[in-house]
Amino acid sequence: MHLKSLTLKGFKSFASATTLRLEPGITCVVGPNGSGKSNVVDAIAWVLGEQGAKALRGGKMEDVIFAGTAGRAPLGRAEVTLTIDNSDGALPIEYSEVSITRRTFRDGAGEYEINGQPCRLLDVQELLSDSGIGREMHVIVGQGQLDAVLQSKPEERRAYIEEAAGVLKHRKRKEKALRKLDAMQANLTRLTDLTAELR
Ligand code: ATP
Repeated sequence: MHLKSLTLKGFKSFASATTLRLEPGITCVVGPNGSGKSNVVDAIAWVLGEQGAKALRGGKMEDVIFAGTAGRAPLGRAEVTLTIDNSDGALPIEYSEVSITRRTFRDGAGEYEINGQPCRLLDVQELLSDSGIGREMHVIVGQGQLDAVLQSKPEERRAYIEEAAGVLKHRKRKEKALRKLDAMQANLTRLTDLTAELR
């Protein structure tokens, strides 16, 4: 599995549709200060489901949409598509190539697609959860972040390891199931009360 291409449209400084083709192995992005190198990395985190504006180096989520320049008007939406080569079947989906798209609008609306089919963020997270590029995003280490990882609390470090090992997905599912069980128990109690009242 490797990242094949990244298309940015209206994302941060990338107003026009821009596609970067990535080959297997190491890719270096070179450019002057402020030319948008980190924005490329932000785009990868964002399309994979990043929910925190801070992690994307912005104040609010809307900041990912092209805000305009002296010569170009702001845009109303940002869109990023990441295409992953899945010929080794590392992702649990029967396609040798998987495209994930995320789109957001100024009114806060957002959408995700997997191979052009609308889906939920949860579907994207589940697809990626065993791949090592899941929701905790520990695979993207930003400038100055190394210190934060080294100084993280034991339980935070445990979460990184659990995700890398594919355990986090099951923990999340267990938490969801327990919440459902709690709700069911409350319904049962209510039902028992009602039955007692009717007797
Ligand atoms: P450095 O080498 O200094 O780290 P860089 O190449 O990583 O720089 P980025 O941080 O990726 O640069 O890009 C910063 C540029 O992106 C700035 O010029 C900033 O104005 C622009 N930018 C960020 N968000 C937006 C946005 N929403 N709309 C337009 N431009 C934006």
